[in-house]
Amino acid sequence: MSECLFCGIVKGEIKGNLVYQDNSVVAFKDINPKAPVHLLIVPRKHIATLLDLQQEDTSLIGDVFNAANQLARDQGIAKNGFRVVVNCGAGAGQSVFHLHFHLLGGRPMVWPPG
Ligand code: 5GP
Ligand code: ZN
Repeated sequence: MSECLFCGIVKGEIKGNLVYQDNSVVAFKDINPKAPVHLLIVPRKHIATLLDLQQEDTSLIGDVFNAANQLARDQGIAKNGFRVVVNCGAGAGQSVFHLHFHLLGGRPMVWPPG
């Protein structure tokens, strides 16, 4: 059993109800959604935070944003606008230390974020 929650979901040890998967990323609904559409796009590789990204992970980030592009269209939030968010570190609100990208949409987004 994985010690990391998102590794557990990636490996299928924990049910994540995946809405998207490819060779490098998976996506599933956030358990505590902050918008009508709130998905988490998660690299299969365990990377704790944005600060832990390595040069070798560069293409992985492209895969994440390709998934975001496709999911925004599929989820019907592309036209009205959506947001992709990474919280890096506890001070920014990161609570799961496996890099993930929040895809939020389906309501107006305020700026700046809280
Ligand atoms: P962070 O706060 O680290 O940026 O985002 C972690 C997100 O993971 C939170 O929005 C939280 O609601 C979500 N989350 C925490 N545990 C689970 C879980 O077991 N399943 C799912 N689907 N989402 C989770
Ligand atoms: Zn992990």
